Order: sequence, then C-alpha cells, then structure tokens
Amino acid sequence: MAIKTDHKTFKGGVHPPYNKEMASSQPIKAAPVPAEVIIPLSQHIGAPNEVLVSPGDKVTVGQKIGGSEAFVSAAVHSSVAGTVKSITEITGFTGAMVKAVIIESAPEQPEFEKKAGADLDAVTGDRVREIAREAGLVGMGGAAFPTHVKLAPPQDKAIDTVIINACECEPFLTCDHRLMLERASDLVSGVKLLMKAVGAKSGIVGIEANKMDAVDEVRKAAEGEPGVSVEVLEVKYPEGAEKMLIYALTGRKVPPGKLPSEVSCLVQNAGTALALYEAAAWGKPLYERVLTITGPGIKQPCNLLAKIGTPISTLVDFCGGFRGEAGKLILGGPMTGWAQKDASAPIVKGTSGVLVLTADAIDVGIEQECVRCGKCVDACPMFLLPNFIVQYTKREEWDKAEMSGALDCFECGCCSFVCPAYIPHVSYAREAKAEIAALRKR
Ligand code: SF4
Ligand code: SF4
Repeated sequence: MAIKTDHKTFKGGVHPPYNKEMASSQPIKAAPVPAEVIIPLSQHIGAPNEVLVSPGDKVTVGQKIGGSEAFVSAAVHSSVAGTVKSITEITGFTGAMVKAVIIESAPEQPEFEKKAGADLDAVTGDRVREIAREAGLVGMGGAAFPTHVKLAPPQDKAIDTVIINACECEPFLTCDHRLMLERASDLVSGVKLLMKAVGAKSGIVGIEANKMDAVDEVRKAAEGEPGVSVEVLEVKYPEGAEKMLIYALTGRKVPPGKLPSEVSCLVQNAGTALALYEAAAWGKPLYERVLTITGPGIKQPCNLLAKIGTPISTLVDFCGGFRGEAGKLILGGPMTGWAQKDASAPIVKGTSGVLVLTADAIDVGIEQECVRCGKCVDACPMFLLPNFIVQYTKREEWDKAEMSGALDCFECGCCSFVCPAYIPHVSYAREAKAEIAALRKR
C-alpha cells in the first residue's frame, strides 16, 4: 500500500506492495557455517581476480584468496577456516559461468580476531581508501562496484556531500533496516570515514518513512557528529537509486551518462558504510554480510549474518525450508533481483536477500501488444520513453532506441510493473543497450 507523505522524493516511480513485515521484526542472527563454501573469484564490476590459493592449501577466516593489480577490482577473502578443495567453474547467480574457490570448512571455526585500538579520528582519507581496497569492499546494495574506486573521484570533481542509501526501497528486504536498528553507532562511524575519504563536509543518511524506528536510532547515534544528518524520504520505488536519491535529498540533477561526482555527491549503501567501519576499526575484510531470507515461500523469514559463499539451499534450510509450492526463487528483491533455477548458487557480497515466492503469488501475464496507455512513461524515473524503446528494439532500429533513452535505462523495472500488457521492458532495454554498445565498437 502506498504511504502518502510530504517527505522528500523524486518524480515518477511506483508503489509496489512492500511486504517488509515478514522479516522486519526479526533480529539479525548468525547463519550456520556450511560444510563447504563456494566463493566466486570475482564478485564486483571490474577486472577479474587472479586466484591466490591452490587445492590442498589451508586457509583462515579473512585470508585473501583472490586479487588483482588492476585499480577497478575488489579482492576476495575466505569466509571460513578450512582447506581449499578445488578451483572450478560454477554457474553464478546471473547464470554466467564464473571461476570459484571451493573451501571445505574445518570442524572448528575460530572467531575472526578483531584488531583492537584503531584510532578512527586519526586515520587519513588516503588510508580509508587503502582500507576499503584491502578489505575488498564493494557496493552492497547489489551493484558491487569497488568502494575504493568510488572514493577516488576525478581530481576536478570535489565532493561536498556523502549520501547513505538506507532507503531499502526494494519490497521484502529488511537487512539494512535491521542494521540501522542494531548497529546505528557503527553505521555513523562508517559515514564519517566516507566523508573523510572524499573530504565532504556533509553526510546525509536517507531513510524511507516506513522505517521511523531506524530514523530515530540513527538520529540518536548522529547527535553531536558535525555534518552528519538523517533525512526521511517518501516510501516509493526506486527511492534508493543513485540519481533519484541525490535529487530527492539535494535537488541536484545528475546529467544523463554522468556520475554522482558531477554534482559533487558520493552515494554509498548503508551496508557498505558499516563494512567500512568494520574494516577500519577491526581490520575485517568483507567475508560475510547481513541479508534477508524472506517471502511467502519461506517458512521462517529472517535476517541472517551469513558467510560469503554459503549456498542458498543452506540458508533456506536454516529458515525452515520452503513453504507450499515454490514458484520463484530470486537473489535480491523482486524488482531488480536475479531469478534462480535452483538453490545451488552461493551468496556473494552484493546479495541483499533471498526471496521465495509461491506459485500463487506470481502474476504470470502473457506479453501482449502495447495499448498506448502511457503508464510506463509516467512511471519512468529517468523520464525515458519505455514503450518506444520496446518498439524500436523489436524493429531493430537501434539509433531510435538510443534516442528514446535506452542507454540511460538503469533497469529499475517500474515500467514493467505498471504495464497492463505485461511487456518485459527491461529485457528489451538490455537487448537495445547490448546492440548499441556492439555497434559502437564496430
Ligand atoms: S525504462 Fe528503464 S529506467 Fe525507465 S522505468 Fe523502465 S526500467 Fe526503469
Ligand atoms: S505501459 Fe505498457 S501498454 Fe501502456 S504504453 Fe507502456 S508499454 Fe504500452
């Protein structure tokens, strides 16, 4: 149900059923350590990693097992103590084959030894970037872009505002909500580190109005912290998308094809800010994360702290297993998540949730002809013409698809959500983008 407010927002977007109540009251608990973890060597946007271990090697929790000299990359670390069983190709959550390190977990799992005594006030901005790189931090809202790269904007683009995306605007997901309730003070420390890394005077935590308890907690934690504030946003999808969030909070418009640094902003997800705090204060690499296991097809929806590389099936079993006739398994939320054929894929750094829909909860309309209602145009937060992108893609008129905005589509799915003709606009937009990119290369 839509929640009408006077809170900050953007034009366009949709109000899908949020279904957050299934898991939002469930405190974060530790998931079991699986018998073996499957850790993809590259879990980020950028250059692939080289494997740094061999079969038979003993590894410890937090040990680096994959890395690259390339700047746009993010190292991967072992999430368990154990023995490397093999290095092999697996089908990743996108369906593409990826190289992964399989590690057999040791019977005893020692706690990660937290480094003590770090003086976060004394740490320099350069050091924060190094810490982010060493810890293999990436955007944990799903994009998985290496954090240290974002923290190094072009020299001519001064950043004055760090924005924390704590909207969690995807239906069903509640892990960021729980992090704010349970780790608000650490989150604010992470915001301060991000501000220091880019020299920003202002840090704004943007939270949707359906999480007022989190607003209270983070406001309390930010009291007396110069420049750190909390803003309440309207409950609307995709409020947490970078360009929408920047506009809602600052009134600045990121030009098409440009990055947030163009308007002096840096956007990071709440989970990433917290992971940065843990890396700086404890020396902890990103080898585990909080995610939500939820949906009508899960017996006990909850929020779990799980090891990267844990198979989805282990987490589903821990939550009591499937309920009813499983209809669809999605890694992430229903709007931008990745449908899975089965529960064998491992969770990765960018996995914010596992959603299980029952067969009766899925609206399986068959694609029909466009009825020219214009709903997709009204819903598009990028002010594109989704209906035209579809038509031109069908006709393979790539120049016209580009003129209709195909390259600016960030695949939020608002257009498909409102379309009475069940047109899968995102699939068409993806096809158009791939064809336009291929044409440019020729
Ligand atoms: S065209 Fe792209 S950006 Fe616009 S609503 Fe559709 S998916 Fe979102
Ligand atoms: S919402 Fe669907 S039916 Fe309506 S104009 Fe857009 S594509 Fe056509």
